[in-house]
Amino acid sequence: MNIVELACLLVLIAAGLLISKLISTVMNVEIWLARTVVGFILAITIVKILSVARKNRYPQCASGKCGVEDYEGVELTSKGLHLVCKCGQHYLLQKQRFQLLDKEGKEHSYKRRTLWRRWVDDSE
Ligand SMILES: [Zn+2]
Repeated sequence: MNIVELACLLVLIAAGLLISKLISTVMNVEIWLARTVVGFILAITIVKILSVARKNRYPQCASGKCGVEDYEGVELTSKGLHLVCKCGQHYLLQKQRFQLLDKEGKEHSYKRRTLWRRWVDDSE
């Protein structure tokens, strides 16, 4: 989780506290009841966001056949994590970049990471 994502979570929690206060005032219910309900919804939302982030650990492979479970780590190099998918394509995972490795081990742009670990085409 990076600093922006952490800030988003804190904003969510602050909003949750505010909304529960509003609900308790407007609907005339006890504050603890409003907090419990809002807290429960918030917890589900956060778990969902985190599970999506986990599922997006690796992008789909270049041939579109392999998902996150189909990658195997080859070695951890100084450049990043060397991975291979079930099709036999090699990749290099760096902090925010997922690069294709050709037979000579040369790196080619493939995907880069955005917020919440979503992958987009790396057009560089
Ligand atoms: Zn593959």
